[in-house]
Amino acid sequence: MTDRAFVAGNWKMNGSLSDIDTFSNALTARAADISCGLAVCVPFVYVARLAERLKGSDIATGGQDVATEIEPGAFTGEVSGTMLADCGATFTVVGHSERRAMYGETDDIVVAKTRAAIACGIQPIVCVGETLEEREADTVETVLKRQLGAVLDGCSDEELGRIVLAYEPVWAIGTGRSATPEQAQEIHAFLRSQIAERSDTLSRSLSIVYGGSVKPDNAEAIFAGDDVDGALVGGASLKADSFADIARAMP
Ligand code: PEP
Repeated sequence: MTDRAFVAGNWKMNGSLSDIDTFSNALTARAADISCGLAVCVPFVYVARLAERLKGSDIATGGQDVATEIEPGAFTGEVSGTMLADCGATFTVVGHSERRAMYGETDDIVVAKTRAAIACGIQPIVCVGETLEEREADTVETVLKRQLGAVLDGCSDEELGRIVLAYEPVWAIGTGRSATPEQAQEIHAFLRSQIAERSDTLSRSLSIVYGGSVKPDNAEAIFAGDDVDGALVGGASLKADSFADIARAMP
């Protein structure tokens, strides 16, 4: 296993305080033989509770978004990286396709959120990925170049060293239709080559994880790709046993 190995859960708008307690008890009990990095990204209101429950374990807590602003102020409904850190988070998802599609997050906003998270000591899990229409139109590399290019252009080398990149083809998220291991490896290698154009060292150290209908029964095959460093897991992260089984599949 490389240092890049990392599996994160994305609970989306799911869960309750009682689910956090049940899940954290079950996951910590199953974590002994998991050797990759592990994080669970939950709704903001549950971050403090999860971090408290995971204290003393090697499992990190994350949010699912972050404000572009760092300083306190009149930004109703927003949650800053400082607040996430205050609640015990060390990661946050940034630029998930659901936020890009439903809440109008542009590449520029994704860059601003990425930088704001890092400035607050939070590691952003930055999501990129094409829609089905874009895949069918054979524009996957163009789309990914644009999404990743914005992050590469907008961040310093030091900032880039703090990010985890998640390749999440939109057509595979929550659909039960995962990318094939070959498709995942091909795109991960492409993303790594784009990063290498900026810095060879960075391309070797940066974790690129795959997201899109990862389950215990397909994780091992997806993880076999040399450039696939782990997963961002949605639905299957809601249960500790399936999430732990996926993490255990990391070679
Ligand atoms: C996600 O929400 O980032 C995701 C990959 O979801 P799922 O695993 O359910 O496809």
